[in-house]
Amino acid sequence: MSTDQAPEPWQWDESVWREAVGRVRAGRDLTPSHWPGGAAVAVAISFDSDHETPALRDGHTSPGLLAAGEYGARVAVPRLLALLERHRVPATFFVPAVSALLHPAEITAYRAAGHEIGVHGWIHERNTHLGHTDERDLTLRSLDTLERLAGVRPTGIRTPSWDFSHHTLGIIRELGFAYDSSLMAADEPYELLAAGEPTGIVEIPVEWIRDDAPYFAMARYAGLRPYTPPREVLRIWTDEFDGARADGGLFQLTLHPAISGHRSRAWLLDELLRHITASGPVWFATHQQIAAHVLESAR
Ligand code: ZN
Repeated sequence: MSTDQAPEPWQWDESVWREAVGRVRAGRDLTPSHWPGGAAVAVAISFDSDHETPALRDGHTSPGLLAAGEYGARVAVPRLLALLERHRVPATFFVPAVSALLHPAEITAYRAAGHEIGVHGWIHERNTHLGHTDERDLTLRSLDTLERLAGVRPTGIRTPSWDFSHHTLGIIRELGFAYDSSLMAADEPYELLAAGEPTGIVEIPVEWIRDDAPYFAMARYAGLRPYTPPREVLRIWTDEFDGARADGGLFQLTLHPAISGHRSRAWLLDELLRHITASGPVWFATHQQIAAHVLESAR
Protein backbone atom coordinates (compact mmCIF):
# COMPACT_ATOMS: atom_id res chain seq x y z
CA MET A 1 0.00 0.00 0.00
CA SER A 2 1.43 3.40 -0.93
CA THR A 3 1.44 6.14 1.66
CA ASP A 4 -0.91 8.49 -0.22
CA GLN A 5 -3.87 6.09 0.10
CA ALA A 6 -6.41 6.50 2.88
CA PRO A 7 -5.64 4.23 5.83
CA GLU A 8 -7.57 0.99 6.11
CA PRO A 9 -10.03 0.73 9.05
CA TRP A 10 -7.57 -1.36 11.06
CA GLN A 11 -5.06 1.46 10.71
CA TRP A 12 -7.44 4.19 11.87
CA ASP A 13 -6.43 6.31 14.84
CA GLU A 14 -8.67 6.03 17.86
CA SER A 15 -10.04 9.52 17.12
CA VAL A 16 -11.29 8.31 13.70
CA TRP A 17 -13.40 5.43 14.95
CA ARG A 18 -14.57 7.41 17.97
CA GLU A 19 -15.76 10.22 15.71
CA ALA A 20 -17.51 7.78 13.35
CA VAL A 21 -19.41 6.17 16.20
CA GLY A 22 -20.17 9.46 17.96
CA ARG A 23 -21.66 11.27 14.97
CA VAL A 24 -25.23 10.07 15.66
CA ARG A 25 -25.82 8.34 18.96
CA ALA A 26 -28.59 7.36 21.36
CA GLY A 27 -28.98 9.91 24.15
CA ARG A 28 -31.30 9.73 27.14
CA ASP A 29 -33.90 7.01 27.32
CA LEU A 30 -37.37 8.50 26.89
CA THR A 31 -39.47 5.61 28.21
CA PRO A 32 -42.23 7.45 30.10
CA SER A 33 -43.26 6.55 33.65
CA HIS A 34 -46.75 5.85 32.32
CA TRP A 35 -48.68 5.79 29.08
CA PRO A 36 -51.93 7.75 28.57
CA GLY A 37 -55.13 6.21 29.93
CA GLY A 38 -53.30 3.83 32.25
CA ALA A 39 -52.21 1.68 29.30
CA ALA A 40 -49.68 -1.07 30.04
CA VAL A 41 -48.01 -0.68 26.65
CA ALA A 42 -47.97 1.69 23.66
CA VAL A 43 -48.48 0.38 20.13
CA ALA A 44 -47.32 2.31 17.05
CA ILE A 45 -48.21 0.72 13.71
CA SER A 46 -46.60 2.21 10.60
CA PHE A 47 -46.84 1.62 6.88
CA ASP A 48 -44.27 2.71 4.34
CA SER A 49 -46.42 3.38 1.27
CA ASP A 50 -43.57 2.90 -1.19
CA HIS A 51 -45.68 1.41 -4.00
CA GLU A 52 -43.87 1.98 -7.34
CA THR A 53 -41.00 4.09 -5.94
CA PRO A 54 -38.33 1.48 -5.09
CA ALA A 55 -38.57 0.15 -8.68
CA LEU A 56 -38.46 3.69 -10.12
CA ARG A 57 -35.53 4.61 -7.85
CA ASP A 58 -33.57 1.74 -9.41
CA GLY A 59 -34.51 2.95 -12.90
CA HIS A 60 -36.92 0.07 -13.55
CA THR A 61 -39.86 1.14 -15.68
CA SER A 62 -41.17 -2.25 -16.82
CA PRO A 63 -44.95 -2.51 -16.27
CA GLY A 64 -44.38 -5.95 -14.77
CA LEU A 65 -42.37 -4.59 -11.84
CA LEU A 66 -44.50 -1.48 -11.41
CA ALA A 67 -47.68 -3.58 -11.18
CA ALA A 68 -46.60 -4.97 -7.81
CA GLY A 69 -46.40 -1.40 -6.49
CA GLU A 70 -49.69 -0.52 -8.16
CA TYR A 71 -51.26 -3.41 -6.22
CA GLY A 72 -50.14 -1.67 -3.03
CA ALA A 73 -52.09 1.45 -3.93
CA ARG A 74 -55.14 -0.12 -5.63
CA VAL A 75 -55.85 -3.16 -3.46
CA ALA A 76 -53.70 -3.17 -0.33
CA VAL A 77 -54.27 0.34 1.00
CA PRO A 78 -58.10 0.16 0.89
CA ARG A 79 -57.99 -3.30 2.51
CA LEU A 80 -55.61 -2.15 5.26
CA LEU A 81 -57.52 1.08 5.91
CA ALA A 82 -60.72 -0.97 6.39
CA LEU A 83 -58.86 -3.31 8.74
CA LEU A 84 -57.50 -0.42 10.82
CA GLU A 85 -60.96 1.10 11.00
CA ARG A 86 -62.43 -2.22 12.19
CA HIS A 87 -59.90 -2.30 15.03
CA ARG A 88 -60.10 1.48 15.60
CA VAL A 89 -56.32 1.74 15.33
CA PRO A 90 -54.56 4.93 14.20
CA ALA A 91 -51.42 4.45 12.13
CA THR A 92 -48.60 6.44 10.59
CA PHE A 93 -48.09 6.28 6.83
CA PHE A 94 -44.61 7.26 5.62
CA VAL A 95 -45.04 8.16 1.96
CA PRO A 96 -42.38 8.94 -0.67
CA ALA A 97 -43.43 12.17 -2.40
CA VAL A 98 -43.52 10.53 -5.86
CA SER A 99 -45.85 7.86 -4.46
CA ALA A 100 -48.08 10.61 -3.02
CA LEU A 101 -48.12 12.46 -6.37
CA LEU A 102 -49.06 9.22 -8.18
CA HIS A 103 -51.86 8.49 -5.68
CA PRO A 104 -53.08 11.81 -4.23
CA ALA A 105 -56.49 10.37 -3.27
CA GLU A 106 -54.67 7.99 -0.95
CA ILE A 107 -53.28 10.93 1.03
CA THR A 108 -56.80 12.30 1.36
CA ALA A 109 -58.03 8.90 2.56
CA TYR A 110 -55.28 8.68 5.22
CA ARG A 111 -56.18 12.12 6.50
CA ALA A 112 -59.93 11.47 6.47
CA ALA A 113 -59.39 8.36 8.61
CA GLY A 114 -57.29 10.32 11.13
CA HIS A 115 -53.95 8.69 10.33
CA GLU A 116 -50.61 10.50 10.37
CA ILE A 117 -48.54 11.13 7.23
CA GLY A 118 -44.75 11.25 7.48
CA VAL A 119 -41.88 11.95 5.09
CA HIS A 120 -40.22 8.98 3.38
CA GLY A 121 -37.98 10.60 0.78
CA TRP A 122 -38.71 11.79 -2.75
CA ILE A 123 -38.46 8.62 -4.86
CA HIS A 124 -37.18 6.26 -2.15
CA GLU A 125 -33.63 7.51 -2.84
CA ARG A 126 -30.62 6.10 -1.03
CA ASN A 127 -29.37 8.91 1.19
CA THR A 128 -25.87 7.49 1.58
CA HIS A 129 -25.46 7.70 -2.22
CA LEU A 130 -26.31 11.42 -2.27
CA GLY A 131 -24.37 14.59 -1.56
CA HIS A 132 -25.53 16.92 1.22
CA THR A 133 -27.25 19.37 -1.17
CA ASP A 134 -29.20 16.69 -3.02
CA GLU A 135 -30.32 14.96 0.17
CA ARG A 136 -31.43 18.25 1.70
CA ASP A 137 -33.27 19.40 -1.45
CA LEU A 138 -35.10 16.09 -1.86
CA THR A 139 -36.10 16.00 1.82
CA LEU A 140 -37.37 19.59 1.72
CA ARG A 141 -39.23 18.98 -1.54
CA SER A 142 -40.83 15.86 -0.05
CA LEU A 143 -41.93 17.80 3.03
CA ASP A 144 -43.46 20.59 0.93
CA THR A 145 -45.19 18.13 -1.43
CA LEU A 146 -46.79 16.15 1.39
CA GLU A 147 -47.90 19.37 3.09
CA ARG A 148 -49.52 20.55 -0.13
CA LEU A 149 -51.34 17.24 -0.70
CA ALA A 150 -52.29 16.55 2.93
CA GLY A 151 -52.99 20.09 4.09
CA VAL A 152 -50.76 19.59 7.11
CA ARG A 153 -46.96 19.72 7.42
CA PRO A 154 -45.50 16.38 8.53
CA THR A 155 -43.49 16.42 11.76
CA GLY A 156 -41.88 13.01 11.35
CA ILE A 157 -39.47 11.36 8.96
CA ARG A 158 -38.44 7.81 8.14
CA THR A 159 -35.54 7.75 5.72
CA PRO A 160 -36.07 5.43 2.72
CA SER A 161 -34.73 1.94 3.56
CA TRP A 162 -33.69 3.47 6.94
CA ASP A 163 -30.63 4.66 5.02
CA PHE A 164 -29.07 7.37 7.22
CA SER A 165 -26.18 9.41 5.84
CA HIS A 166 -23.65 11.57 7.68
CA HIS A 167 -25.85 14.56 6.77
CA THR A 168 -29.29 13.15 7.61
CA LEU A 169 -29.51 14.23 11.25
CA GLY A 170 -28.36 17.77 10.43
CA ILE A 171 -31.02 18.02 7.71
CA ILE A 172 -33.71 16.66 10.07
CA ARG A 173 -32.80 19.35 12.63
CA GLU A 174 -32.60 22.14 10.08
CA LEU A 175 -36.00 21.30 8.57
CA GLY A 176 -37.63 21.23 12.00
CA PHE A 177 -38.76 17.62 12.31
CA ALA A 178 -39.90 16.56 15.81
CA TYR A 179 -38.93 12.93 15.42
CA ASP A 180 -37.18 10.35 13.28
CA SER A 181 -38.04 6.68 12.90
CA SER A 182 -35.11 5.13 11.02
CA LEU A 183 -32.63 3.99 13.68
CA MET A 184 -32.49 1.07 16.10
CA ALA A 185 -30.26 1.71 19.13
CA ALA A 186 -32.98 0.81 21.66
CA ASP A 187 -36.35 -0.88 22.13
CA GLU A 188 -37.88 2.30 23.57
CA PRO A 189 -37.92 5.90 22.30
CA TYR A 190 -34.79 7.93 22.95
CA GLU A 191 -33.30 11.33 22.22
CA LEU A 192 -30.80 11.61 19.37
CA LEU A 193 -27.35 13.01 20.07
CA ALA A 194 -25.35 14.79 17.36
CA ALA A 195 -21.62 14.54 18.13
CA GLY A 196 -22.50 14.13 21.80
CA GLU A 197 -24.94 17.07 21.93
CA PRO A 198 -28.65 16.52 22.72
CA THR A 199 -30.82 17.49 19.73
CA GLY A 200 -34.35 17.42 21.16
CA ILE A 201 -35.22 15.05 18.28
CA VAL A 202 -37.05 11.93 19.41
CA GLU A 203 -36.11 8.59 17.86
CA ILE A 204 -38.97 6.09 17.54
CA PRO A 205 -36.79 3.04 16.95
CA VAL A 206 -37.44 0.47 14.23
CA GLU A 207 -36.08 -3.06 13.82
CA TRP A 208 -35.87 -5.56 10.94
CA ILE A 209 -37.49 -8.10 13.32
CA ARG A 210 -40.61 -5.91 13.33
CA ASP A 211 -40.62 -5.25 9.57
CA ASP A 212 -42.57 -7.34 7.04
CA ALA A 213 -40.01 -7.06 4.19
CA PRO A 214 -37.31 -9.45 5.51
CA TYR A 215 -39.91 -12.19 6.00
CA PHE A 216 -41.90 -11.86 2.80
CA ALA A 217 -40.01 -9.94 0.11
CA MET A 218 -38.24 -11.83 -2.64
CA ALA A 219 -35.98 -10.92 -5.54
CA ARG A 220 -37.19 -12.66 -8.70
CA TYR A 221 -33.77 -13.09 -10.26
CA ALA A 222 -31.78 -13.75 -7.10
CA GLY A 223 -31.43 -17.23 -5.64
CA LEU A 224 -32.66 -16.19 -2.23
CA ARG A 225 -36.28 -16.87 -1.22
CA PRO A 226 -36.49 -15.73 2.40
CA TYR A 227 -40.16 -16.62 2.67
CA THR A 228 -41.57 -17.08 6.18
CA PRO A 229 -45.12 -18.39 6.69
CA PRO A 230 -47.39 -15.59 7.99
CA ARG A 231 -48.36 -17.76 10.97
CA GLU A 232 -44.71 -17.91 12.03
CA VAL A 233 -44.36 -14.14 11.67
CA LEU A 234 -47.49 -13.74 13.81
CA ARG A 235 -45.71 -15.73 16.52
CA ILE A 236 -42.60 -13.53 16.33
CA TRP A 237 -44.56 -10.29 16.46
CA THR A 238 -46.82 -11.59 19.24
CA ASP A 239 -43.69 -12.42 21.26
CA GLU A 240 -42.29 -8.94 20.52
CA PHE A 241 -45.54 -7.33 21.67
CA ASP A 242 -45.79 -9.49 24.81
CA GLY A 243 -42.21 -8.51 25.70
CA ALA A 244 -42.95 -4.81 25.20
CA ARG A 245 -46.05 -5.15 27.35
CA ALA A 246 -44.11 -6.87 30.14
CA ASP A 247 -41.58 -4.00 30.03
CA GLY A 248 -44.30 -1.31 29.99
CA GLY A 249 -42.71 -0.10 26.78
CA LEU A 250 -43.43 0.45 23.11
CA PHE A 251 -44.32 -2.05 20.40
CA GLN A 252 -43.53 -0.47 17.01
CA LEU A 253 -44.18 -2.21 13.68
CA THR A 254 -43.15 -1.33 10.11
CA LEU A 255 -45.32 -2.70 7.29
CA HIS A 256 -45.57 -2.06 3.54
CA PRO A 257 -49.00 -2.09 1.84
CA ALA A 258 -47.63 -3.88 -1.24
CA ILE A 259 -46.27 -6.63 1.04
CA SER A 260 -48.71 -6.86 3.96
CA GLY A 261 -51.89 -6.02 2.04
CA HIS A 262 -52.16 -9.49 0.49
CA ARG A 263 -54.90 -11.70 1.88
CA SER A 264 -52.75 -14.15 3.82
CA ARG A 265 -50.78 -11.30 5.40
CA ALA A 266 -53.67 -8.92 6.11
CA TRP A 267 -54.94 -11.93 8.07
CA LEU A 268 -51.74 -11.77 10.12
CA LEU A 269 -52.24 -8.10 11.00
CA ASP A 270 -55.88 -8.80 11.85
CA GLU A 271 -54.85 -11.60 14.25
CA LEU A 272 -52.05 -9.53 15.76
CA LEU A 273 -54.37 -6.59 16.49
CA ARG A 274 -56.88 -9.01 18.00
CA HIS A 275 -54.19 -10.37 20.32
CA ILE A 276 -53.01 -6.88 21.28
CA THR A 277 -56.51 -5.58 21.99
CA ALA A 278 -57.37 -8.65 24.09
CA SER A 279 -54.21 -8.24 26.22
CA GLY A 280 -55.57 -5.39 28.34
CA PRO A 281 -55.27 -1.59 28.28
CA VAL A 282 -53.19 -0.55 25.29
CA TRP A 283 -52.42 2.92 23.92
CA PHE A 284 -52.66 2.77 20.12
CA ALA A 285 -51.02 5.93 18.85
CA THR A 286 -49.38 7.50 15.84
CA HIS A 287 -45.61 7.92 15.88
CA GLN A 288 -46.18 11.67 16.24
CA GLN A 289 -48.31 11.15 19.36
CA ILE A 290 -45.74 8.79 20.87
CA ALA A 291 -42.91 11.27 20.20
CA ALA A 292 -44.85 14.17 21.74
CA HIS A 293 -45.86 12.14 24.81
CA VAL A 294 -42.41 10.79 25.64
CA LEU A 295 -40.76 14.18 25.20
CA GLU A 296 -43.36 15.88 27.37
CA SER A 297 -43.03 13.17 30.05
CA ALA A 298 -39.26 13.63 30.11
CA ARG A 299 -39.47 17.34 30.94
ZN1 ZN B 1 -39.75 2.46 2.10
